[in-house]
Order: sequence, then structure tokens, then C-alpha cells
Amino acid sequence: MSLKPPPLSNDCFALPAGVDWTPVDQALALLRDRLGVVTQSEIRPLSQSLGRVLAADALARRSNPPLPNTAVDGYGFAGPVGEGEVVLPLVEGRSAAGVPYEGRVPAGHAIRILTGAALPDGVDTVILEEDVNCDGAQIAFNGPLKQGANTRKAGEDALAGSAILAAGRVVTPADLALASATGLAELAVRAPLRVGVLSTGDELVEPGEPAAPGQIYDANRVMLLGLLGQMGFAPVDLGKAPDDRAGLRATLDEAAPKVDAILTSGGASAGDEDHVSALLKEAGALQEWRIALKPGRPLALGMWQGRPVFGLPGNPVAALVCTLIFARPALGLMAGAGWQEPQGFDVPAGFAKRKKPGRREYLRARMRDGRAEVFKSEGSGRVSGLSWAEGLVELGDGAMEINPGDPVRFYPYSSFLM
Ligand code: AMP
Ligand code: MG
Repeated sequence: MSLKPPPLSNDCFALPAGVDWTPVDQALALLRDRLGVVTQSEIRPLSQSLGRVLAADALARRSNPPLPNTAVDGYGFAGPVGEGEVVLPLVEGRSAAGVPYEGRVPAGHAIRILTGAALPDGVDTVILEEDVNCDGAQIAFNGPLKQGANTRKAGEDALAGSAILAAGRVVTPADLALASATGLAELAVRAPLRVGVLSTGDELVEPGEPAAPGQIYDANRVMLLGLLGQMGFAPVDLGKAPDDRAGLRATLDEAAPKVDAILTSGGASAGDEDHVSALLKEAGALQEWRIALKPGRPLALGMWQGRPVFGLPGNPVAALVCTLIFARPALGLMAGAGWQEPQGFDVPAGFAKRKKPGRREYLRARMRDGRAEVFKSEGSGRVSGLSWAEGLVELGDGAMEINPGDPVRFYPYSSFLM
């Protein structure tokens, strides 16, 4: 009897019958539920706080502005003034930023005043210098002018004692400006989350090394290390491990104490050489998922010495998508930034596509002429498409038929950075 190949089915890429795929949202909900903050808080000067996660609400030490002041160069007096021509005598002296006028401006008088200067006693209103004629002794202008015109109230921007920045926020350059303006010199921030990156596979060689015909260069590790750095985590290069269980176990044992979480790529399915998933299972893996996601269905999630391990698929496209969709919000949560949803935009499609139900899909995409165009191939080994793309188009779990102009959800890569 000769051995015959099985017949090809029409639906050879459909989900195997009877297999329970984990929907993306269910996987995300589980991560969100099981993980928590692990980073320590520390006090850092403003100059070292950029990109860090705030460990506590920052409270203004001082109001901004600290005193009522003028928003423009001009002349100050007591308002309001009614309709018609107004002539006011000038007092001697002026009020400038940092050099206030010490005296009181009598009613019916005006004073020269410069942007940012504190309003002297007796002044609550300022007229713009361009709207005034001045002969050195008095000014003339046309009313009306409301009381308080062209001035800033004390504390109108921020009140002393109020929370200006909330715990969990990732500090931006503008936040540093606000902290400084309200009298703060340092912030309570969290230490960066240390995330190890390990590549697995006997076929992998380092960039620049000689490669035999069956070998390939490790594309994932430089990408993931770079991405984690851009996300504000502290990437830790764990090198690469061969496809053997003892070697991989030793590598994980050595790495675990040095990091807060680990991303591995490759070996995450259930095949003979898929040692990451096998090891995590042995160690009592939290979950071994087949996620209803394209690209990137095998995602092995386990704990190794108390550190979450994200066993990413080996294909670079799937590795990147799984990192953005699953690892990023999970790591953000561990880092203290809370669970952050990426900011997506509904934009017109610049492509046509039919999609079967059952799996959520992410397409490599970019915006051109106001439309989302997608990469010509969906092959998950196509590294050039990752580089071509500037973000991802998300197609929901259900069946879909998309025609040019239909709305689709686009996530720029930058929306995955914290
Ligand atoms: P695996 O998930 O180990 O079955 O790998 C799936 C595919 O991804 C295979 O073609 C691997 O050779 C490839 N692959 C795995 N790791 C990497 C890597 N670090 N860089 C580039 N390709 C990889
Ligand atoms: Mg492999």
C-alpha cells in the first residue's frame, strides 16, 4: 500500500475545527487583570525626569502666575473705561518683568508696564501700546475697555497646592515646563522597567557575522530592543539561545534576576523545536495562547522566576505586531503608567480587501493623500513591509469587505510609544 498525501481542502488556511482561539480582547483583558506595577519610585531632578512615569501626583508648590501680571506691553490703570476718548496722566516710573513698581498708581492715572510685569497696586487693566498715543506725560486712547483686559490673574494657570500632573503620566517636555513654572525642582518618578530581549533559533546569526546558506540574520532583537527603548523602557540585550531546552533554561535562569520582564522571539508554537512554549508549560505557564490574530497567532505567556515572559512568534512581522498589541500595554502597566490604549484614527481606506471572520488582522499601513494604503504583501516574513509601513490598520474580528474610501482604523506607530 502506498502512502498518499491528504487531500487539500478549499479552506486550508481556515482555523482548525474544534480549536479554541483566544480573541484579542480576551487576551488583553487577562493581561490587564493579572499584571501590576513592579517598578520602584525615586526622586529625580527635572533634568532627569523626561520620559519617566510619575510615581505620585505632582503638586504645584507655587501658583502660576504667582501674582497678577500683564500679558502685553502697554499702559496699566484701574478699569473699566467706557466708550469714547480717554486721556490719562502717567505716573513716573514703570513696571517691568522681575522689576515691579513699588508704589501705588492713583485712580485716574496710568503707568508704563511691560509683558510679564506684576500689576502695581491700583492697576487691574492694561491697554496695548499699539492702541495708545503717548507724549511722555500722558496717554490717549479710545474706550471701551473691560476691567482686567490684557492681564493674567494670579493662579489662573495653576493654583499652589493643586495636582498639576497625575501619577502614571509619562513626563513630557511640556510637563517639565509646568513643573518648573510651579516651583518644582524634582519629581517622584519610577525607575524604568527593565525588559530583556532574547532571540531563539538554531538558524540565527549576529548581524555582520558570516552566515551559512541555511542561516539567517537575527532581525528581531535589534528591532525589539530599539522599540522598547523608544517606549521608554530599559531594554536589556539577552543575546540568542539555540533550539535546545537545557540551553534555553540556563539562559532564562541567568537573565531573570536582571530584568522585570522578558520578550523572547521564536519557538513559541507547539512544534518539535518550540522550546520556549515547552519550557513555560513545564514551569506552569500562566497561559499558552493561540490568539485569533493575524499576523502572530502563537503567543506563549508564562512566568519565569516571577518575571512575565512574552513568547513572541519568530516571524518579524508577527513579533512586532504582538509586541505592539500585547506587550506594550502590559509592560506599561508594570512600569506604572496604567493600561494605555493606543490612539487610533478612522480614515478612508486606500485599498480593497475581503476578510473572513474569526481573527483580528493588522495590516502594515501608512497614510498617503489622506488615505491608508497597505503593503502589497501580507506575508509575515516580509521585513521590508515593516520598514515601509508607518503604522497598522486594524480590521475587527468579524468578516469584512472593505472598498476604497470605506473607513478603517489606523494606528500610527507613534501611538504605541508611551
Ligand atoms: P519560529 O516561531 O521559531 O517557528 O520562527 C518562525 C519564523 O521566523 C522562522 O522562519 C524563523 O526562521 C523566523 N525567525 C525566528 N526568529 C527570528 C529572528 N530573530 N529574526 C528573523 N527571523 C526569525
Ligand atoms: Mg524557531
